[in-house]
Amino acid sequence: MTSAISPKNGILEIKLYEGGKSHLAGVENVLKLSSNENPFGPSDRAKEAVARSTHELHRYPSTDHLALRQAIAQAHGLPADQIICGAGSDEIITFLCQAYAGMGDEVLYTEHGFLMYRISALAAGATPVEVAENGRMVDVDALLAGATACTKLVFIANPANPTGTMISLDEIVRLADGLPKQALLVLDGAYAEYANDYDGGAALIGERSNVFMTRTFSKIYGLGGLRIGWGYGPKAIIDVLNRVRGPFNLSSTQQEVAEAAVRDQEFVDKCRLDTTRNRVWLAEALADIGIPSDPSSANFILARFESDDQAEACDKFLQSNGILLRHVANYKLPHCLRITIGDESSCRRVIHAIAQFKGLRL
Ligand SMILES: *Cc1c(COP(=O)(O)O)cnc(C)c1O
Repeated sequence: MTSAISPKNGILEIKLYEGGKSHLAGVENVLKLSSNENPFGPSDRAKEAVARSTHELHRYPSTDHLALRQAIAQAHGLPADQIICGAGSDEIITFLCQAYAGMGDEVLYTEHGFLMYRISALAAGATPVEVAENGRMVDVDALLAGATACTKLVFIANPANPTGTMISLDEIVRLADGLPKQALLVLDGAYAEYANDYDGGAALIGERSNVFMTRTFSKIYGLGGLRIGWGYGPKAIIDVLNRVRGPFNLSSTQQEVAEAAVRDQEFVDKCRLDTTRNRVWLAEALADIGIPSDPSSANFILARFESDDQAEACDKFLQSNGILLRHVANYKLPHCLRITIGDESSCRRVIHAIAQFKGLRL
């Protein structure tokens, strides 16, 4: 029976987002390297804050997230009134699309860009527009050529997921300068903490009215399960986003834990150092067994195989050994497996298993 009840245009074009697998039937001791999670978990201070927060759970949470915004502002040297917090940076992306992109508007992103850009654009009723990358790198010229009078939002992740590649601040400036006036450039900084000497583009935002940055507690802070992210941008844009944000979008636990986490920068520094060391080791070990990857600035490596079939077969072989990677066929990289940087023994276990798959002895 057909129904007269139907969703808005675009909604049925949304393909459900698939998270990284976390279980394998019948396999114990699964090594999950499929979702770019921090192998060290959250900081102890964040865990203590969870326990503390239970005493006040009968109270409604703060609606303006002032204490959390002040803590973020202090840690990053930014003005607290230009920060907005959400349930993961996914929610900030949703707010941006909801507030700035509707029917007839275009939302631009790149070939291997994060799938949430397309999903949020469609959910808002806008038209997603994808442009090519150049050798798995965001291509500023392609974005500039793809922008039109209808472009309202341009999303790039820097470092990018799932490629791990980065473009320079000069390239970002060239993009921001060249976009049409009505377009807002959004720099998704989910992995910014892993990059060397990179502020996620924050300094740039202080000087301009057309750039916005999103950040998350899900990656280096090890708090993906709690859902906390934030955005920083021009005051006028923060004011707009706050109009579509629900007053209670973050629980008191989320706010208190994120505040404790961002005040523990020592933990962040330690995670960055360990991850960088393990990433360098893993990239070299992959190269040694004949598997190339682009230089990564994030907490994962995109391993390239000779064919789609080989990538798929290796993924299956690793699964049979209890190791979960992400086969990124849905990111138009069917010959690639994305490997999250785990701790040292996890990195060794992955290399050992891939070498075995290739019939090599280590
Ligand atoms: C993981 C990730 C995020 C973070 O999402 P949250 O909603 O904050 O958990 C955002 N952008 C990219 C590109 C990511 O890979």
